[in-house]
Amino acid sequence: MDRISVEQILGDSIVWDNHACMPLRPEDDHFLPQLERYYKAGFDVVCLNIGFDPVGWQNTFPMVSLFRRWIGLNSDKYLQVNSVSEIRLAKKTGRLAICFDIEGGSALNGDINLVQLYYDLGVRWMLMAYNKNNILAGGCQDEDTGLTEFGRQVIDEMNRIGMVVCCSHTGYRSAMDIMEHSQKPVIFSHSNAAAVWSHPRNIGDDLIRVCAETGGVIGINGLGPFLGNNDISTENFIRHADHIVQLVGPDHVGIALDYVFDQEELADFIDQNPDVFPPEEGYSTGLKMVPPEQLIDIMRGLRKLGYSDSDLRLIAGENHMRLAKTVWKEN
Ligand SMILES: [Zn+2]
Repeated sequence: MDRISVEQILGDSIVWDNHACMPLRPEDDHFLPQLERYYKAGFDVVCLNIGFDPVGWQNTFPMVSLFRRWIGLNSDKYLQVNSVSEIRLAKKTGRLAICFDIEGGSALNGDINLVQLYYDLGVRWMLMAYNKNNILAGGCQDEDTGLTEFGRQVIDEMNRIGMVVCCSHTGYRSAMDIMEHSQKPVIFSHSNAAAVWSHPRNIGDDLIRVCAETGGVIGINGLGPFLGNNDISTENFIRHADHIVQLVGPDHVGIALDYVFDQEELADFIDQNPDVFPPEEGYSTGLKMVPPEQLIDIMRGLRKLGYSDSDLRLIAGENHMRLAKTVWKEN
């Protein structure tokens, strides 16, 4: 009997990209209609970044306000989702579900009360430190001094209210501290396997195993320097996914392309912050990234490797969905 097509599998599963980057300049809202590319490529859910440590905490509120208003004005195509049932509603009504994430706890400005506020605004995961140390934890491109007391309090608060704790961009020691401290599953929202390509942003097998033990998910990142050699081929992308599956099984791998819509803005960030994006680590203005339209090819490639239909569904988004069911609060 013929197997059902990859398109059919994607059509009847929840397909989820856990990290995409719109411009973080409120005046660049003309990029927002490009979110339609995700929907056309077969995605049901996309998690949009609203800030990261280097841009400063004051910027996150204008960004999330802009995104929320724009989604509201375009509610025929998009739905800002707060719960698993709203994700199902978005799919049922033919709309792209959007939630938010924050890359780095500096967005709290040292105030634990903001965790709940961000959650209420739709932020569903936050990572602790973005490449450099901050008041919560150590970064992966810094002298990591571990999770701080404030970092512990923030994790307790995230666990309490339903925000997923993420260790991408965080240093090794802090990541281990975070996974030990959290009472809920922890993710590496967008991190690749260091065993496939050595890079400070990629994670070793021990971190992958501990993440899986928490019940977490590792999202495969589509940026060339992390995939290796700036090679964004489907083959190279799958190498990272397959390494993690061989190590901990298909229940712990997802997709988080990290696609940046405004590549000029990315080039500016890279140029202006060489300590956060050191050129010797492959950060350059010629950085390539896997576009959302490559999803179908990635799924076909996994199938060719012998992955079952159920494995494809897990990786395409059902693993992220499980996390949401486990950690988010159903409102
Ligand atoms: Zn990132």
